[in-house]
Amino acid sequence: MEITIKKADKLKNHPEDSALGFGTFFTDHMFNMDYNQEQGWHNPRIEPYAPIEMDPSTMVLHYGQAIFEGLKAYKTDSGEIQLFRPEANLKRFNKSAKMLCIPEFDENFILEALVKLLNIEKDWVPGEPGTSLYIRPTIIATDPYIGLRSSHTYRFFIILSPVGAYYPEGFDPVKIWVTTDYVRAVRGGVGQAKTAGNYAASLYATELANKDGYTQVMWL
Ligand SMILES: *Cc1c(COP(=O)(O)O)cnc(C)c1O
Repeated sequence: MEITIKKADKLKNHPEDSALGFGTFFTDHMFNMDYNQEQGWHNPRIEPYAPIEMDPSTMVLHYGQAIFEGLKAYKTDSGEIQLFRPEANLKRFNKSAKMLCIPEFDENFILEALVKLLNIEKDWVPGEPGTSLYIRPTIIATDPYIGLRSSHTYRFFIILSPVGAYYPEGFDPVKIWVTTDYVRAVRGGVGQAKTAGNYAASLYATELANKDGYTQVMWL
């Protein structure tokens, strides 16, 4: 498959490395690819970062058939850009796809697409210690349909976000609330999939933990 490239007319201002935090800034371009039953995964393209217009009945909004990954690109002292075992993230992404009845994709092809995207966005990789370019590959179910089944169409996208530390504590140790009252994964469930609903289900216990001065929950 040929990846088509459409560059943005106008580029964004870059934030200062010291102002990054986590997950609020996004780069100028994104990768997109579509799936339908006739063509499989098709129309891979790098294009300006843009909203995704959706019918209110779009399946992902109702039943959470969505998966994602998270990995980072780092700038070395000599200015090179490096990934850490990206093929392992893509392998896990396909494992999540299988568990959520999402059609699997060609891992080598997506790695090639990611490298293309990173080459276009390489000026967005921050260089200060503790910073990186966070990479968020995502697949969402896009059928406009509210019956319950797996979708027949999907959107695969990759967005990039320059980041600093994930927690407000920076890279200092964080306090962890250990609880047996709530669970994140059950035997026979989808705990090992990186699927949207797992994270929605973690919010309540995390808020209880935060109220008591803890940053994270250790789920038992
Ligand atoms: C993905 C994920 C992480 C990060 O794990 P890596 O293997 O380092 O990518 C941490 N916590 C949860 C709940 C996750 O889903």
